[in-house]
Amino acid sequence: MNIELINTGTELLLGAVLNTHQQWLGRQLAELGRRVTRQVTVPDSASAIRQAVQEALSRADLVLVTGGLGPTSDDLTREEIAALLGRKLQSDAGIAARIEGFFAASHRPMPDQVRVQAMVPEGATVLTNEHGTAPGLALLIEPNPFRPAGGRSLLILLPGPPRELRPMFQNQVLRLVEQIFPDVEPFATRTLRTTGLGESRVEERISVPLQPHLAAGLEVGYCARPGEVDVRLIARGPEASTTVKTAEQIVRQQLGSAIFGEGQETLEAVVVRRLIERGQTLVVAESCTGGQLGHRVTNVPGASAVFRGGVIAYSNQTKLHLLGVQAGTLATHGAVSEATAREMAEGVRRIGSADFALAITGIAGPGGGSADKPVGTAFIGLASAGATRVERQCNPYDRETFKWVTSQQALDLLRRALGAQARAGN
Ligand code: ATP
Ligand code: MG
Repeated sequence: MNIELINTGTELLLGAVLNTHQQWLGRQLAELGRRVTRQVTVPDSASAIRQAVQEALSRADLVLVTGGLGPTSDDLTREEIAALLGRKLQSDAGIAARIEGFFAASHRPMPDQVRVQAMVPEGATVLTNEHGTAPGLALLIEPNPFRPAGGRSLLILLPGPPRELRPMFQNQVLRLVEQIFPDVEPFATRTLRTTGLGESRVEERISVPLQPHLAAGLEVGYCARPGEVDVRLIARGPEASTTVKTAEQIVRQQLGSAIFGEGQETLEAVVVRRLIERGQTLVVAESCTGGQLGHRVTNVPGASAVFRGGVIAYSNQTKLHLLGVQAGTLATHGAVSEATAREMAEGVRRIGSADFALAITGIAGPGGGSADKPVGTAFIGLASAGATRVERQCNPYDRETFKWVTSQQALDLLRRALGAQARAGN
Protein backbone atom coordinates (compact mmCIF):
# COMPACT_ATOMS: atom_id res chain seq x y z
CA MET A 1 0.00 0.00 0.00
CA ASN A 2 1.36 3.37 -1.04
CA ILE A 3 0.85 6.20 1.43
CA GLU A 4 1.92 9.73 0.62
CA LEU A 5 1.95 12.70 2.95
CA ILE A 6 1.74 16.31 1.83
CA ASN A 7 2.43 18.94 4.44
CA THR A 8 1.37 22.43 3.38
CA GLY A 9 2.75 25.55 5.05
CA THR A 10 5.22 28.20 4.00
CA GLU A 11 6.24 28.46 7.67
CA LEU A 12 7.52 24.87 7.52
CA LEU A 13 9.78 25.65 4.56
CA LEU A 14 11.04 28.84 6.23
CA GLY A 15 12.07 26.78 9.24
CA ALA A 16 9.80 28.86 11.47
CA VAL A 17 7.78 25.81 12.53
CA LEU A 18 9.07 22.27 12.84
CA ASN A 19 7.09 19.79 10.76
CA THR A 20 5.94 17.62 13.62
CA HIS A 21 3.08 16.20 11.56
CA GLN A 22 5.53 14.27 9.46
CA GLN A 23 7.03 12.58 12.48
CA TRP A 24 3.77 12.06 14.32
CA LEU A 25 1.73 10.74 11.39
CA GLY A 26 4.64 8.58 10.22
CA ARG A 27 4.92 7.01 13.63
CA GLN A 28 1.18 6.48 14.06
CA LEU A 29 0.95 4.70 10.74
CA ALA A 30 4.15 2.69 11.23
CA GLU A 31 2.81 1.35 14.50
CA LEU A 32 -0.07 -0.11 12.53
CA GLY A 33 2.23 -1.63 9.95
CA ARG A 34 1.55 1.03 7.34
CA ARG A 35 4.45 3.06 6.07
CA VAL A 36 4.52 6.48 4.54
CA THR A 37 6.23 5.89 1.21
CA ARG A 38 6.80 9.51 0.25
CA GLN A 39 6.47 12.90 1.89
CA VAL A 40 6.64 16.41 0.52
CA THR A 41 6.30 19.86 2.04
CA VAL A 42 4.84 22.60 -0.14
CA PRO A 43 4.28 26.33 0.43
CA ASP A 44 0.82 27.86 0.83
CA SER A 45 0.52 28.42 -2.89
CA ALA A 46 -2.38 27.28 -5.02
CA SER A 47 -0.29 25.78 -7.80
CA ALA A 48 2.13 24.02 -5.46
CA ILE A 49 -0.68 22.39 -3.50
CA ARG A 50 -2.59 21.36 -6.58
CA GLN A 51 0.47 19.93 -8.28
CA ALA A 52 1.58 18.00 -5.20
CA VAL A 53 -1.85 16.46 -4.70
CA GLN A 54 -2.18 15.52 -8.36
CA GLU A 55 1.24 13.87 -8.34
CA ALA A 56 0.56 11.98 -5.14
CA LEU A 57 -2.78 10.77 -6.50
CA SER A 58 -0.98 9.41 -9.56
CA ARG A 59 0.87 6.94 -7.31
CA ALA A 60 -0.70 6.48 -3.91
CA ASP A 61 -3.62 4.55 -2.41
CA LEU A 62 -3.82 6.94 0.50
CA VAL A 63 -2.89 10.62 0.37
CA LEU A 64 -2.85 12.70 3.54
CA VAL A 65 -2.71 16.49 3.26
CA THR A 66 -2.16 18.67 6.33
CA GLY A 67 -2.85 22.37 6.87
CA GLY A 68 -4.52 25.15 5.01
CA LEU A 69 -8.11 24.38 5.97
CA GLY A 70 -8.55 27.53 8.03
CA PRO A 71 -10.40 30.73 7.12
CA THR A 72 -7.50 33.01 6.13
CA SER A 73 -6.41 33.96 2.64
CA ASP A 74 -3.41 31.61 2.79
CA ASP A 75 -5.68 28.64 3.48
CA LEU A 76 -6.14 27.21 0.00
CA THR A 77 -6.22 23.44 0.39
CA ARG A 78 -9.97 22.91 0.29
CA GLU A 79 -10.59 25.07 -2.79
CA GLU A 80 -7.61 23.79 -4.74
CA ILE A 81 -8.49 20.16 -4.19
CA ALA A 82 -12.15 20.66 -5.03
CA ALA A 83 -11.05 22.36 -8.26
CA LEU A 84 -8.54 19.63 -9.06
CA LEU A 85 -11.15 16.93 -8.63
CA GLY A 86 -13.85 18.93 -10.39
CA ARG A 87 -16.12 18.74 -7.38
CA LYS A 88 -18.41 21.58 -6.37
CA LEU A 89 -18.12 23.07 -2.89
CA GLN A 90 -21.37 23.15 -0.97
CA SER A 91 -22.09 24.62 2.42
CA ASP A 92 -22.74 21.92 5.02
CA ALA A 93 -25.45 22.96 7.46
CA GLY A 94 -24.13 20.69 10.23
CA ILE A 95 -20.64 22.19 10.13
CA ALA A 96 -22.01 25.75 9.89
CA ALA A 97 -24.07 25.15 13.03
CA ARG A 98 -21.08 23.67 14.80
CA ILE A 99 -18.91 26.66 13.94
CA GLU A 100 -21.58 29.08 15.15
CA GLY A 101 -21.86 27.08 18.37
CA PHE A 102 -18.09 27.19 18.80
CA PHE A 103 -18.07 30.99 18.69
CA ALA A 104 -21.18 31.31 20.85
CA ALA A 105 -19.60 29.10 23.52
CA SER A 106 -16.47 31.24 23.64
CA HIS A 107 -18.53 34.48 23.64
CA ARG A 108 -16.74 35.88 20.63
CA PRO A 109 -18.32 37.49 17.58
CA MET A 110 -18.02 35.30 14.49
CA PRO A 111 -16.13 36.76 11.54
CA ASP A 112 -17.95 36.13 8.26
CA GLN A 113 -14.89 34.59 6.65
CA VAL A 114 -15.09 31.67 9.08
CA ARG A 115 -18.08 30.30 7.15
CA VAL A 116 -15.77 29.14 4.37
CA GLN A 117 -14.84 26.26 6.66
CA ALA A 118 -18.34 24.85 6.26
CA MET A 119 -17.76 24.39 2.52
CA VAL A 120 -17.48 20.73 1.62
CA PRO A 121 -16.58 19.21 -1.78
CA GLU A 122 -19.32 17.00 -3.22
CA GLY A 123 -19.17 13.45 -1.94
CA ALA A 124 -16.71 14.18 0.88
CA THR A 125 -17.00 12.67 4.34
CA VAL A 126 -16.71 15.27 7.07
CA LEU A 127 -14.28 14.58 9.91
CA THR A 128 -15.46 16.42 12.99
CA ASN A 129 -12.99 18.81 14.60
CA GLU A 130 -13.38 18.44 18.38
CA HIS A 131 -10.86 21.19 19.10
CA GLY A 132 -11.42 23.84 16.48
CA THR A 133 -13.63 25.07 13.68
CA ALA A 134 -12.10 23.62 10.48
CA PRO A 135 -13.35 20.08 9.90
CA GLY A 136 -11.21 17.51 8.17
CA LEU A 137 -12.40 15.97 4.90
CA ALA A 138 -12.12 12.51 3.40
CA LEU A 139 -12.66 11.90 -0.30
CA LEU A 140 -12.79 8.51 -1.93
CA ILE A 141 -11.66 8.97 -5.52
CA GLU A 142 -13.00 6.09 -7.54
CA PRO A 143 -12.04 5.67 -10.27
CA ASN A 144 -8.88 7.71 -9.78
CA PRO A 145 -8.35 9.63 -13.04
CA PHE A 146 -4.74 10.51 -12.17
CA ARG A 147 -3.55 6.96 -11.83
CA PRO A 148 -2.53 5.15 -14.98
CA ALA A 149 -3.88 1.91 -13.57
CA GLY A 150 -7.12 3.54 -12.39
CA GLY A 151 -8.34 1.98 -9.16
CA ARG A 152 -9.23 4.08 -6.19
CA SER A 153 -7.46 6.37 -3.78
CA LEU A 154 -8.46 7.87 -0.49
CA LEU A 155 -7.60 11.54 -0.02
CA ILE A 156 -7.72 12.95 3.48
CA LEU A 157 -7.39 16.60 4.42
CA LEU A 158 -6.44 17.43 7.99
CA PRO A 159 -6.25 20.77 9.83
CA GLY A 160 -2.80 22.22 10.63
CA PRO A 161 -2.90 22.75 14.40
CA PRO A 162 -1.47 19.62 16.07
CA ARG A 163 -4.08 19.62 18.83
CA GLU A 164 -6.80 19.47 16.19
CA LEU A 165 -5.09 17.04 13.82
CA ARG A 166 -4.01 14.40 16.32
CA PRO A 167 -7.36 13.43 17.89
CA MET A 168 -9.01 13.63 14.47
CA PHE A 169 -6.48 11.22 13.06
CA GLN A 170 -6.69 8.78 15.95
CA ASN A 171 -10.44 8.83 16.44
CA GLN A 172 -11.68 9.11 12.87
CA VAL A 173 -9.05 8.68 10.17
CA LEU A 174 -7.59 5.38 11.34
CA ARG A 175 -11.01 3.75 11.37
CA LEU A 176 -11.68 4.98 7.85
CA VAL A 177 -8.32 3.71 6.58
CA GLU A 178 -8.95 0.28 8.15
CA GLN A 179 -12.37 0.19 6.51
CA ILE A 180 -11.21 1.06 3.04
CA PHE A 181 -7.86 -0.78 3.07
CA PRO A 182 -8.42 -3.72 5.42
CA ASP A 183 -6.14 -6.36 3.93
CA VAL A 184 -2.87 -5.38 5.47
CA GLU A 185 -0.23 -8.04 6.00
CA PRO A 186 -0.09 -9.25 9.63
CA PHE A 187 2.27 -6.98 11.47
CA ALA A 188 3.62 -6.70 14.99
CA THR A 189 5.76 -4.11 16.67
CA ARG A 190 7.01 -3.32 20.12
CA THR A 191 9.08 -0.39 21.32
CA LEU A 192 11.05 -0.79 24.53
CA ARG A 193 12.44 2.37 26.05
CA THR A 194 15.74 2.41 27.91
CA THR A 195 17.74 4.90 29.88
CA GLY A 196 21.23 4.92 31.37
CA LEU A 197 22.95 3.08 28.51
CA GLY A 198 24.38 4.60 25.34
CA GLU A 199 23.13 3.56 21.93
CA SER A 200 26.18 1.44 21.10
CA ARG A 201 26.04 -0.29 24.45
CA VAL A 202 22.40 -1.17 23.91
CA GLU A 203 23.16 -2.56 20.46
CA GLU A 204 26.22 -4.43 21.73
CA ARG A 205 24.12 -6.27 24.29
CA ILE A 206 21.24 -7.30 22.09
CA SER A 207 22.51 -7.62 18.53
CA VAL A 208 24.16 -11.04 18.86
CA PRO A 209 21.27 -12.80 20.66
CA LEU A 210 18.81 -11.27 18.20
CA GLN A 211 20.85 -12.31 15.17
CA PRO A 212 19.08 -15.64 14.48
CA HIS A 213 15.70 -13.87 14.44
CA LEU A 214 16.76 -11.36 11.82
CA ALA A 215 16.78 -14.18 9.31
CA ALA A 216 13.18 -14.92 10.32
CA GLY A 217 12.21 -11.39 9.28
CA LEU A 218 12.74 -9.44 12.49
CA GLU A 219 13.68 -5.78 12.03
CA VAL A 220 15.44 -3.96 14.84
CA GLY A 221 15.60 -0.19 14.99
CA TYR A 222 17.31 2.11 17.46
CA CYS A 223 16.26 5.63 18.23
CA ALA A 224 18.65 7.55 20.46
CA ARG A 225 17.81 10.83 22.18
CA PRO A 226 19.68 12.51 25.02
CA GLY A 227 19.45 10.16 27.99
CA GLU A 228 17.26 7.60 26.22
CA VAL A 229 17.48 4.87 23.62
CA ASP A 230 14.41 3.18 22.15
CA VAL A 231 14.64 -0.32 20.74
CA ARG A 232 11.97 -0.99 18.13
CA LEU A 233 11.13 -4.53 17.11
CA ILE A 234 9.11 -5.08 13.96
CA ALA A 235 8.00 -8.19 12.12
CA ARG A 236 5.61 -8.95 9.28
CA GLY A 237 3.84 -12.03 8.05
CA PRO A 238 1.89 -14.81 9.77
CA GLU A 239 4.58 -15.34 12.44
CA ALA A 240 4.94 -11.62 13.20
CA SER A 241 3.49 -11.66 16.65
CA THR A 242 5.51 -14.67 17.87
CA THR A 243 8.71 -13.29 16.36
CA VAL A 244 8.30 -9.96 18.15
CA LYS A 245 7.38 -11.62 21.46
CA THR A 246 10.46 -13.84 21.36
CA ALA A 247 12.66 -10.88 20.48
CA GLU A 248 11.13 -8.84 23.28
CA GLN A 249 12.01 -11.54 25.81
CA ILE A 250 15.61 -11.51 24.62
CA VAL A 251 15.84 -7.73 24.83
CA ARG A 252 14.32 -7.72 28.31
CA GLN A 253 16.78 -10.38 29.43
CA GLN A 254 19.76 -8.51 28.05
CA LEU A 255 18.82 -4.99 29.10
CA GLY A 256 16.96 -5.73 32.33
CA SER A 257 16.24 -2.72 34.47
CA ALA A 258 17.61 -0.31 31.88
CA ILE A 259 14.18 -0.71 30.27
CA PHE A 260 11.87 1.78 31.88
CA GLY A 261 8.81 1.60 29.66
CA GLU A 262 7.11 0.72 26.43
CA GLY A 263 5.67 2.51 23.44
CA GLN A 264 5.57 6.21 24.02
CA GLU A 265 5.50 6.13 27.82
CA THR A 266 7.88 8.68 29.33
CA LEU A 267 10.17 8.12 32.28
CA GLU A 268 8.31 10.74 34.31
CA ALA A 269 5.01 8.99 33.57
CA VAL A 270 6.46 5.70 34.79
CA VAL A 271 7.73 7.31 37.99
CA VAL A 272 4.40 9.01 38.69
CA ARG A 273 2.52 5.78 38.01
CA ARG A 274 4.75 3.82 40.37
CA LEU A 275 4.34 6.46 43.10
CA ILE A 276 0.55 6.37 42.68
CA GLU A 277 0.56 2.56 42.85
CA ARG A 278 2.57 2.69 46.04
CA GLY A 279 0.70 5.63 47.55
CA GLN A 280 3.93 7.56 48.06
CA THR A 281 4.88 11.19 47.55
CA LEU A 282 7.75 13.20 46.09
CA VAL A 283 9.36 16.60 46.58
CA VAL A 284 12.29 18.04 44.68
CA ALA A 285 15.08 20.55 45.25
CA GLU A 286 16.78 21.76 42.10
CA SER A 287 19.75 23.96 41.55
CA CYS A 288 21.28 23.66 38.08
CA THR A 289 18.22 22.09 36.45
CA GLY A 290 16.21 25.21 37.32
CA GLY A 291 12.84 23.48 37.62
CA GLN A 292 13.20 20.99 34.76
CA LEU A 293 12.58 18.06 37.07
CA GLY A 294 9.43 19.58 38.54
CA HIS A 295 8.33 20.56 35.05
CA ARG A 296 8.63 17.01 33.77
CA VAL A 297 6.84 15.52 36.76
CA THR A 298 3.98 18.01 36.43
CA ASN A 299 3.63 17.24 32.73
CA VAL A 300 2.14 13.90 33.78
CA PRO A 301 -1.65 13.93 34.26
CA GLY A 302 -2.48 12.93 37.82
CA ALA A 303 0.86 14.09 39.22
CA SER A 304 -0.90 16.10 41.91
CA ALA A 305 -1.71 12.86 43.74
CA VAL A 306 1.98 12.26 44.45
CA PHE A 307 3.96 15.44 43.77
CA ARG A 308 4.17 17.79 46.76
CA GLY A 309 6.23 20.48 45.04
CA GLY A 310 9.75 21.70 44.85
CA VAL A 311 12.29 24.42 45.55
CA ILE A 312 14.55 25.95 42.93
CA ALA A 313 17.53 26.63 45.14
CA TYR A 314 19.90 28.24 42.67
CA SER A 315 22.02 30.32 45.03
CA ASN A 316 23.90 29.34 48.17
CA GLN A 317 21.59 31.67 50.11
CA THR A 318 18.53 29.76 49.05
CA LYS A 319 20.19 26.45 49.78
CA LEU A 320 21.00 27.73 53.29
CA HIS A 321 17.76 29.50 54.14
CA LEU A 322 15.11 27.50 52.33
CA LEU A 323 16.57 24.03 52.47
CA GLY A 324 18.64 24.15 55.65
CA VAL A 325 21.94 23.20 54.03
CA GLN A 326 24.71 23.90 56.57
CA ALA A 327 26.98 26.89 55.97
CA GLY A 328 29.91 24.65 56.91
CA THR A 329 28.97 22.12 54.25
CA LEU A 330 28.91 24.79 51.55
CA ALA A 331 32.21 26.25 52.79
CA THR A 332 34.02 22.92 53.06
CA HIS A 333 32.64 20.94 50.13
CA GLY A 334 31.14 23.59 47.83
CA ALA A 335 27.65 23.95 46.43
CA VAL A 336 28.32 21.23 43.87
CA SER A 337 29.19 18.31 46.08
CA GLU A 338 27.90 15.05 47.40
CA ALA A 339 27.42 16.56 50.87
CA THR A 340 25.37 19.48 49.56
CA ALA A 341 23.18 17.22 47.40
CA ARG A 342 22.57 15.06 50.46
CA GLU A 343 21.56 17.99 52.66
CA MET A 344 19.39 19.49 49.94
CA ALA A 345 17.51 16.20 49.58
CA GLU A 346 17.10 15.68 53.29
CA GLY A 347 16.15 19.33 53.82
CA VAL A 348 13.46 19.44 51.17
CA ARG A 349 12.10 16.07 52.27
CA ARG A 350 11.70 17.42 55.80
CA ILE A 351 10.02 20.63 54.66
CA GLY A 352 7.77 18.92 52.13
CA SER A 353 7.07 15.92 54.37
CA ALA A 354 7.20 13.53 51.44
CA ASP A 355 8.27 9.91 51.19
CA PHE A 356 10.96 10.70 48.62
CA ALA A 357 13.02 13.77 47.85
CA LEU A 358 15.22 14.27 44.82
CA ALA A 359 17.89 16.96 44.85
CA ILE A 360 20.15 18.13 42.04
CA THR A 361 23.22 20.32 42.16
CA GLY A 362 25.75 20.64 39.36
CA ILE A 363 27.73 22.72 36.89
CA ALA A 364 25.85 23.36 33.65
CA GLY A 365 28.71 25.38 32.16
CA PRO A 366 30.15 26.69 29.97
CA GLY A 367 32.07 28.36 32.87
CA GLY A 368 32.58 27.29 36.45
CA GLY A 369 34.35 23.96 35.98
CA SER A 370 37.52 22.87 37.74
CA ALA A 371 39.93 19.94 37.46
CA ASP A 372 38.14 17.80 40.01
CA LYS A 373 34.66 19.08 39.15
CA PRO A 374 34.59 19.69 35.39
CA VAL A 375 31.68 21.29 33.54
CA GLY A 376 28.86 18.77 33.41
CA THR A 377 29.42 17.42 36.91
CA ALA A 378 26.15 16.80 38.74
CA PHE A 379 25.31 15.32 42.11
CA ILE A 380 21.88 13.81 42.45
CA GLY A 381 20.53 12.98 45.89
CA LEU A 382 17.61 10.74 46.75
CA ALA A 383 16.36 10.86 50.32
CA SER A 384 13.80 8.47 51.73
CA ALA A 385 12.84 7.32 55.22
CA GLY A 386 15.60 4.75 55.38
CA ALA A 387 18.55 6.39 53.75
CA THR A 388 19.96 9.04 51.45
CA ARG A 389 21.93 8.11 48.35
CA VAL A 390 23.90 10.46 46.17
CA GLU A 391 25.07 9.67 42.65
CA ARG A 392 27.73 11.59 40.80
CA GLN A 393 27.26 12.06 37.06
CA CYS A 394 29.15 13.77 34.27
CA ASN A 395 26.99 15.38 31.58
CA PRO A 396 29.20 17.71 29.54
CA TYR A 397 26.58 19.02 27.12
CA ASP A 398 24.99 22.36 26.24
CA ARG A 399 22.85 23.79 29.03
CA GLU A 400 19.47 22.53 27.84
CA THR A 401 20.71 19.03 27.16
CA PHE A 402 22.52 19.06 30.52
CA LYS A 403 19.28 19.95 32.29
CA TRP A 404 17.34 17.30 30.43
CA VAL A 405 19.85 14.49 30.95
CA THR A 406 20.41 15.36 34.61
CA SER A 407 16.66 15.41 35.29
CA GLN A 408 16.48 12.07 33.47
CA GLN A 409 19.12 10.58 35.77
CA ALA A 410 17.28 11.89 38.82
CA LEU A 411 14.00 10.37 37.67
CA ASP A 412 15.78 7.11 36.96
CA LEU A 413 17.38 7.06 40.40
CA LEU A 414 13.90 7.27 41.88
CA ARG A 415 12.46 4.73 39.43
CA ARG A 416 15.07 2.20 40.47
CA ALA A 417 14.38 2.89 44.14
CA LEU A 418 10.71 2.22 43.47
CA GLY A 419 11.68 -1.27 42.33
CA ALA A 420 10.51 -0.47 38.88
CA GLN A 421 10.92 -2.98 36.16
CA ALA A 422 8.62 -1.98 33.32
CA ARG A 423 5.54 -4.19 33.13
CA ALA A 424 6.68 -7.26 31.33
CA GLY A 425 5.26 -8.79 28.21
CA ASN A 426 1.81 -7.27 27.76
P1 ATP B 1 -6.07 27.30 11.04
O1 ATP B 1 -7.55 27.18 11.11
O2 ATP B 1 -5.44 27.44 12.39
O3 ATP B 1 -5.59 28.31 10.02
P2 ATP B 1 -5.19 25.34 9.11
O4 ATP B 1 -5.79 24.01 8.87
O5 ATP B 1 -5.40 26.37 8.06
O6 ATP B 1 -5.62 25.84 10.53
P3 ATP B 1 -2.43 26.03 8.99
O7 ATP B 1 -2.89 27.44 8.82
O8 ATP B 1 -1.66 25.42 7.90
O9 ATP B 1 -3.67 25.08 9.29
O10 ATP B 1 -1.63 25.86 10.33
C1 ATP B 1 -2.20 26.21 11.58
C2 ATP B 1 -1.19 26.03 12.69
O11 ATP B 1 -0.73 24.69 12.75
C3 ATP B 1 0.04 26.91 12.53
O12 ATP B 1 0.41 27.44 13.80
C4 ATP B 1 1.06 25.96 12.06
O13 ATP B 1 2.34 26.37 12.46
C5 ATP B 1 0.66 24.64 12.68
N1 ATP B 1 1.09 23.59 11.75
C6 ATP B 1 0.68 23.45 10.48
N2 ATP B 1 1.31 22.42 9.87
C7 ATP B 1 2.16 21.90 10.79
C8 ATP B 1 3.10 20.82 10.77
N3 ATP B 1 3.30 20.10 9.66
N4 ATP B 1 3.77 20.57 11.89
C9 ATP B 1 3.58 21.31 13.00
N5 ATP B 1 2.73 22.35 13.08
C10 ATP B 1 2.02 22.64 12.00
MG1 MG C 1 -4.46 28.43 8.40
